[in-house]
Amino acid sequence: MDSLTHSAIPVDPPPVPHLEDYAAVVGQAEIHELRELAMRLSGRRVKMVNSTAVGGGVAEILNRLVPLLNELGVQTQWEVLKGGNDFFAVTKAFHNALHGESCECRPEWFDLFLTVNEENRRQMGFDEDFIVIHDPQPLALVQAREGRNNHWIWRCHIDLSRPNAQVWNFLRPMVERFDAAMFSAPPFTQSLPIPQYLFYPSIDPLSDKNRELPPEFIQSVLERFQVDPKRPILTQISRFDRLKDPVGVVQAYRKVRKYFDCQLVLAGGGATDDPEGDMVLREVQEAAQTDPDIHILNLPPWSHLEINALQRASTIVIQKSLREGFGLTVAEALLKKKPVVASAVGGIPVQVIHKVTGVLAHSIEGTAYQIRFLLSNPDFARRLGENGHEHVKENFLLTHNIRRYLLLFLTLQQQ
Ligand code: UDP
Repeated sequence: MDSLTHSAIPVDPPPVPHLEDYAAVVGQAEIHELRELAMRLSGRRVKMVNSTAVGGGVAEILNRLVPLLNELGVQTQWEVLKGGNDFFAVTKAFHNALHGESCECRPEWFDLFLTVNEENRRQMGFDEDFIVIHDPQPLALVQAREGRNNHWIWRCHIDLSRPNAQVWNFLRPMVERFDAAMFSAPPFTQSLPIPQYLFYPSIDPLSDKNRELPPEFIQSVLERFQVDPKRPILTQISRFDRLKDPVGVVQAYRKVRKYFDCQLVLAGGGATDDPEGDMVLREVQEAAQTDPDIHILNLPPWSHLEINALQRASTIVIQKSLREGFGLTVAEALLKKKPVVASAVGGIPVQVIHKVTGVLAHSIEGTAYQIRFLLSNPDFARRLGENGHEHVKENFLLTHNIRRYLLLFLTLQQQ
């Protein structure tokens, strides 16, 4: 495995972006509209709660959404649910079960879920006007709405279309106590007695993960990880999680490798609410064996610039998930005009319109076939990347997400 002992050449940190800076990307009119909407919420307070401060897409979104809502005058606080490894092992099992995996859930798991939520409930205040609970881990905090007349919203980032019945039956009564639920794609929803809203997740075009980088910095990151810039680079960026199928990516790469002298980069890290990461990392290392052209990079959570550089240096970006929430890594790659080969799961087909903004695949063989096709047709691959960039700019940027939040708060306020 590649180590992180050498540092890449430094890249100047830009000032933290402010709302006005986004006008250069999305136009002044959109920024003006955000200010107009936010004015109507002036003095209102929001609390966001999720289960990890680093790692994974939700933390990635909140990191930028929260400061910008504050800049707009909507006072927003972000709190992270506290729990031990045992709790996060249970919530990971629930997460997989909600994605449709089988679960031999033990009765004490449900008790632990409720106990940890209750401990957190006692430590947090819930006096804000809008409480937004992200994902299932903190769902039972909704108990705190008793006796309050503020607005509670459940932001579900996962695909609930085929949930394991035992886990869903346990969580569903909690969900039903919210005023509204937000889902990342139309097919992700369940039939619920509360209003449901479609909220595409978003990426921040000005963050370290996505901003333009000097070519020398990209080059230095490749050198640091001993990746050859002269040969095609296939990359998947993902937590080491079985649902991201990193072993399947290695298998697809091996099929491509018979025809193209290419390299594979699998870069990921952990999330504090995902205790399975180390085990999956070992599985991938085993699958890669000693192939010097497979680079498995276990990156620390502050590696945004490195991930950005790896995405920009890639010939093709892969996202071979077996199940997916939205798949922010796809939007990140498309914004960088990369041809993407991704599984048709979760929110990926919303981003990758087959043969227009990328290509979809359904298996290891299909993934390998599409990679070979794009390596053989670089002009077509480039066009996909350009279309993908426009698609992300139109639909999946942070400013759109903020607009949706402001509109939802205004709607709920009037009820
Ligand atoms: N990510 C990261 N470091 C890693 C792996 C992933 O910063 O080692 C980021 C990735 O760039 C993306 C987010 O974490 O912004 C993952 O979001 P996605 O929706 O793709 O998947 P999730 O992890 O939420 O299932």
